[in-house]
Amino acid sequence: MVSNDRCLFCRIASGEITAKKVYEDADVVAFEDINPQAPTHVLIVPRKHIPSLDDLTDADAQVVGTVLTRAAQIARNLHLESDGYRLVINNGEAAGQTVFHIHFHILGGRNFGWPPG
Ligand code: 5GP
Ligand code: ZN
Repeated sequence: MVSNDRCLFCRIASGEITAKKVYEDADVVAFEDINPQAPTHVLIVPRKHIPSLDDLTDADAQVVGTVLTRAAQIARNLHLESDGYRLVINNGEAAGQTVFHIHFHILGGRNFGWPPG
């Protein structure tokens, strides 16, 4: 399991930094965003340190697929699926990425506009 001991989300995944975890298993960790943008705002990350979508290779297909299916399961567990919810990846600084460890935002509990800001 590849991690980076200087990365915030690797440190949250390992438990070195505290977060309100809502789910974890051998492959992924999900926790509440410290600055929520919706009534439910959970981040899900692979335990493997991958900085951004730009770093993905075919070897990561399984881990990325696992993150997506676990995100959907967490949304069901949080009862978000009936009203809809949004999964977001901000990729790169211009898109708003501030933490360079791949993560989905799981946002629910309100309506969302389109196009996004
Ligand atoms: P990004 O801007 O990279 O798409 O998302 C990073 C997210 O991480 C932001 O929504 C931000 O609020 C959240 N975040 C930053 N630092 C922490 C932290 O220490 N703990 C938690 N739980 N979330 C954090
Ligand atoms: Zn990391």
